[in-house]
Amino acid sequence: MDLLEYQGKQFFASYGIPVSAGEACQDVEAAVAAADRIGYPVVIKAQVHTGGRGKAGGIKLATNSAEAREHAGNILGLDIKGHIVQIVWVEVASDIAEEYYASFTLDRSAKLHLGMLSAEGGVEIETVADENPDAIAKIHVNPVQGLTEEACRSWVEAAKLNPAATEGSVEILMKLYTAYVDGDADLVEINPLILTPTGEVHALDAKVSLDSNAIYEHPGYEKYDETQPRDERELAAHKKGLQYVGLDGTVGVIANGAGLAMSTVDVINQAGGQAANFLDIGGGANADVMAGALEVINNDPDVKSIFINIFGGITRGEEVANGIVEAMARVKLDSPIVIRLDGTNAAEGRAILKPHLSDRLMMEDTMLSAAAKAVQLAEG
Ligand code: GDP
Ligand code: MN
Repeated sequence: MDLLEYQGKQFFASYGIPVSAGEACQDVEAAVAAADRIGYPVVIKAQVHTGGRGKAGGIKLATNSAEAREHAGNILGLDIKGHIVQIVWVEVASDIAEEYYASFTLDRSAKLHLGMLSAEGGVEIETVADENPDAIAKIHVNPVQGLTEEACRSWVEAAKLNPAATEGSVEILMKLYTAYVDGDADLVEINPLILTPTGEVHALDAKVSLDSNAIYEHPGYEKYDETQPRDERELAAHKKGLQYVGLDGTVGVIANGAGLAMSTVDVINQAGGQAANFLDIGGGANADVMAGALEVINNDPDVKSIFINIFGGITRGEEVANGIVEAMARVKLDSPIVIRLDGTNAAEGRAILKPHLSDRLMMEDTMLSAAAKAVQLAEG
């Protein structure tokens, strides 16, 4: 679960990490009132689940009410990489002497936590990693032993920050590590971590990703869930109990089993097309489940063909075939279907489907030929 910047700052603040005071607002009037309360200059920041907001015009300094009104008006509703801004965070502006980068995440191959710290902050860390990898000081932390202040201090020294930032950085990084571990985060990132002209260090930005599987342990996390971006198709599918992920292509996918669904997405790519979704109907391919799956896919306007890929295991071919025939009678479909049916009692299942075949319902012998057919239909 990815947090918006202001939620990340609230999360940081709850672990004692210094952040700028501010208010989250959903309309221009509220933003101006907040800016007036906070006192000028303020920074008005777009709250979206993506980075690079500064470059996209989503972060502006306002020195009076008129400017606050103008910037809030421009930023609310702005499209940043496909994310429409619905919330702005208004915070007291900071004076910046230097911008650093700091983060903790899990290094899966090393089976250790990884801290990264760089004196070259404010820009994307990927750019620093490409152009000047030596500018990133790394530390691996054994989760059992934790981060000692001593290790943290040598890490900060290795990053060659301004010596004036050493104490403040050690203090913040110790707290950041605690927030990362105790808060069950997958990622905590501060970019930029700033040093002010008066020698204070604090977090000017916050990127936090929490482990969704740990939400039950943190009652306070429910409020973060409310602002999660929702795919309407995914909501509808989850209500029907389907394992569904929306994708960007034009071939709707129905498969039984997550492994087969993933392979189906792959063969559609292999055939030169793109899947519109990932949908695993699990073991039970009866008429109710199949009708639900077809409805969800049919409601996606991008779908131009539907590929039903079933490999019967415990589920028998004739059950699946009957399910498809019955579901098709119930759901009025906009797109043609291509079926590949294999596995237990495939012959019986195919025999049931045969009399129903048409240019709206086609059957292919193999997974690849079915994918090719579905892609051809989606393009034609
Ligand atoms: P991002 O572009 O989405 O990463 O948003 P950030 O919150 O990191 O802001 C981008 C840049 O805007 C920062 O690197 C700063 O240079 C600048 N910025 C943000 N807040 C302030 C502020 O309070 N004062 C000043 N002077 N610059 C700011
Ligand atoms: Mn940033």
